[in-house]
Parts: sequence; structure tokens; C-alpha cells
Amino acid sequence: MTVLNKSSSQVGINRNAAIFLRFARGLTWVILVVISLPVGATNQQIISAKAKAFKDKHGLTLYWHKDQEKPKSTFRMGYLLAEPRDYELLMTYIERLDVEFSKYPKVFHQRVQLRTIAIVKYLNVSTRGGVFKQSRSAYPDALNHTLYYDFKAGRFDPDYQTNVMHHEYFHLIDYQLNGFQFYWRDPQWMGFNNPNFTYGNGGTWNRGGDYTKRLNYPLKGFISSYSTTGVEEDKACIFAALMIESSHRIVNTWAKTDSILKQKIQYIKQFVGDKEGGLEIN
Ligand SMILES: [Zn+2]
Repeated sequence: MTVLNKSSSQVGINRNAAIFLRFARGLTWVILVVISLPVGATNQQIISAKAKAFKDKHGLTLYWHKDQEKPKSTFRMGYLLAEPRDYELLMTYIERLDVEFSKYPKVFHQRVQLRTIAIVKYLNVSTRGGVFKQSRSAYPDALNHTLYYDFKAGRFDPDYQTNVMHHEYFHLIDYQLNGFQFYWRDPQWMGFNNPNFTYGNGGTWNRGGDYTKRLNYPLKGFISSYSTTGVEEDKACIFAALMIESSHRIVNTWAKTDSILKQKIQYIKQFVGDKEGGLEIN
């Protein structure tokens, strides 16, 4: 009897110990998760601090949170702002933007009147009275001094995102410095091309062609298939290529035996570098 009693109480102790162990293990996990949260997760304060540092450094406001004043837009824009679960990705995007925008002198942004960069997701633009709605990875709104970037578009391809940053910025620069008249038709630029070459119908109608911005040198004077869609796209493609070291090198190599491309590169360098507050591309 005594032996039996002892053994049943031992079973009870073992069961209690097992329950306690399981509880302790669970508690440890909870503590670990709570401790690691503020360290690992990017929160609103961290992004706000980064945005403030960005503003101090570049003189540009980052619009990313609903508490901020929404930028005015020329066209009907559709987009969503980042939710807490996007913050990690948003932060990565802002860090990349910081690196790329460090290539421009602060005064250059003032010269071309860029004031705000809206970093959003699911960006789309409606034109023609809302009949025509189009997804965009970025959009330059020169009239409202704002650049829109979709931080989720092309997120698995950092090179693509980096290219888009400069490409879209160029459209705004082009508009500010050249005016509406020369934006679509620039006689000097068109004069560089072979006389029998004609551009396509512009970037707006070739959205599926975002990936044709890749450098493939389809013909003399053109660095990508997308370049052939319009004067404004041709310029933006060359500009973006020149702003990134790896593509700059490739384009320079082609230009050695391509006088059309050489003239276009010179034009772009002069165009953005001219006058006070210019951007020098070496
Ligand atoms: Zn473009």
C-alpha cells in the first residue's frame, strides 16, 4: 500500500513538473517576442525620424503617413499609404532613395522646384475624365512639385526601382527646365537621330514596357527599346542610365562608337548641369 501510494504521488509530482515546464517554456517565448519587438520591427517613430533626416539633408518632404497634409495632384491619383506591416519595406525604400538622391545637390531640387516625394503603394493614375486608369510604379507631378513613387512596385528588383527613381525625376526636371512645348518635341534632340527614324507613341501607351527600359541597345542612338517610344522617354532613359554607375559605364562604352548616343549624352549632361544649381554628371 505504502509503495503504491508513493508511486501515485510521484506520478502527480511528475505531471505537475511537466505542466510547469510547459508553462515556463511558453512564458519564455512570450518574453522573448515582447523583448525583440521594439528592436526588430520598424515602427512609425523610426520612419518619422528617417523622414525628418531626409528633409534636413535634401530639403524634400516625404509624404507617407495619413497625419500629413496630402499633396495636391493634377490628375486623379489612386494610391494607398503604408500600413504598419509595410514599414520594413518602406524603410528599405527610403534608405535606397536617400542613397540615390544624395547624388543631387540640394540646390538642384530647388532649381527644378521639387518639394515633395510621396511614397505610396498601389499607385494608379486616371486621365481622360477617369475613363483611363493606369497602374504606375511612379508618377511625376511637375505642376504640384511632387514625385510619386510606389515602394512596392518592383520590390524584388532593386536595380529596377533605382532606375525608376531617376527616370521619373527626369520627367519632372524636363518639364520644369524645358517647358511643356519642348517636353514632347525637342527639335535639337530629334536632330541627333537618323533622319528616317520616328519615335513610337510615347511611354503612356507602353506601360507593359517598363521592363523594356532594360539596356538592350536596339539600334544606334538608343539604349533600350523603351527609349524609342518617345523623345521624353529617350531622354529619361539616358539620364537614369547616367545616374547609376554600372549602367553609366555600359552606355559610355556604346557611345565610343556611336556618335548619336554621344551627342545625346552630352546634351543631357549640359541640360542638367547648366546654370547655377546644376547637377554635374561625370
Ligand atoms: Zn518615362
